[in-house]
Amino acid sequence: MQSSIIGKIEKAKRYAEEKDRVTFCELAVKFRGENNDYDTSYKDGKWSCTCSFFPKWGLCVHTMAMERILANMLPPEARTTQYDVSSLSTEGEPYSRRNLSYR
Ligand SMILES: [Zn+2]
Repeated sequence: MQSSIIGKIEKAKRYAEEKDRVTFCELAVKFRGENNDYDTSYKDGKWSCTCSFFPKWGLCVHTMAMERILANMLPPEARTTQYDVSSLSTEGEPYSRRNLSYR
């Protein structure tokens, strides 16, 4: 019994390093801006944010920051800004093997 939970913990550690196993379907965060806090969320394929910039542009510094924080943990349709994700990957390595280190 105890050895099986130890095995699960070890597997969880490995999974935690392999972030591309995880894709957010929806999320909601409290984003602490310089002057105010904002509710930033992603649901049903759409971002939203309570800041004044968002309604006009459909994106804002908060959604863009979340895209950077979560990167490949977001579904492609959530990545509205086409920043260079290749900078996150190790040159020439397949998508699923990048940034993995086993300690
Ligand atoms: Zn915002």
